[in-house]
Amino acid sequence: MELGIYIHIPFCKKKCDYCDFISYSNIFNLQETYIKKLIEEIEDNKKLLKENDITTIYIGGGTPSSIKPEYIKKILNKVYEVSDITQTKNIEITIEVNPGTVEKNNLQLYKDCGINRLSIGLQSGKDELLKLIGRIHDYRQFINTYNWAIETGFTNINIDLMLGLPNQTIQDLKQSLQNVVNLKPEPKHISVYSLIVEEGTQIEKKINEGELQLPDENEERNQYNYTKNYLELNGYKHYEISNFAKKGFESKHNMNCWKQKQYIGFGLSAHSYIKGYRYSNTCNLQEYLNNNSTDVKIIHEKQNIDDMKKEYMLLGLRKIDGIKISEFKEKFGENPIYIFRKELKKLIEQKLLIIDLDDIKLTRKGLDFANLVWEEFV
Ligand code: SF4
Repeated sequence: MELGIYIHIPFCKKKCDYCDFISYSNIFNLQETYIKKLIEEIEDNKKLLKENDITTIYIGGGTPSSIKPEYIKKILNKVYEVSDITQTKNIEITIEVNPGTVEKNNLQLYKDCGINRLSIGLQSGKDELLKLIGRIHDYRQFINTYNWAIETGFTNINIDLMLGLPNQTIQDLKQSLQNVVNLKPEPKHISVYSLIVEEGTQIEKKINEGELQLPDENEERNQYNYTKNYLELNGYKHYEISNFAKKGFESKHNMNCWKQKQYIGFGLSAHSYIKGYRYSNTCNLQEYLNNNSTDVKIIHEKQNIDDMKKEYMLLGLRKIDGIKISEFKEKFGENPIYIFRKELKKLIEQKLLIIDLDDIKLTRKGLDFANLVWEEFV
């Protein structure tokens, strides 16, 4: 069976004001212990890694580029050792990199140990906005990182941007998009996420106290629509709600998740989906460090076949091309149009979904109200 690997690095130089990911800025002294534990966890799962066909590796966080690159090399070497992957095999290996945490040498080391895709967290091309949301870098540092990546020979690069930020105008967003699209050579992949104000974050506090103001819903929709049109005009295919790519450069790791393929997560809080089980590691760092890897797993869901079919729809309808009726039939031996006739009829009447030959997909209106569509398959 195909299997993706996710590796979580929970270290950041500084916590950004909007972030509620499992990441810490004050535990750099635990790096070595953490990496040891992570490698132990990979060793514990060697049978699974050996028996399956590893298709992608994604090193995320946190900020993976904030730890010594030698640690990244150690982790990947462990994966190579216990699985059938050789560095020459053509699998997608991504690492998240944040400007201000990386030097050119690090990028060379990543490349030497088989990493072939970078995801760079720019978020905005405007320094004032970066400062406002608590990022540590400025645009100049991003440009350095990008140029080093190109000089090192990386050709598959994603840039992360954000919209709906406090004080962000559509002009700011236009400028950021323009800067990114005009990079030489242009990045092959661009992700644009809307800010989600999470409970307990600095940004939430500042908004509640009136220090910051979010753009209203209309303004945010305008920003989203502008992004979609601008990137499509510049040859990027909109392939998932927040993701755009040049042909052939869609993120394989994420696409596999949206196609309900299996993946295993290593590290603090990392999620896995194997044989219908959705489970994760503990979010408690001490618990993760002080226990066997099997004792820190929390099972969230054991799916039966009906759960799987619903989830297949829910995940698949994140993709702009939607789901293929023929692929659903092949996987489950049944026709989704019949199984979900009630839900599909309602959503088609609401003009949120269309069925077009072999495809079931969101309409333009459905893209704006995707939550209503997904709710039908929860
Ligand atoms: S760099 Fe990313 S993971 Fe780290 S604090 Fe900022 S948003 Fe969170």
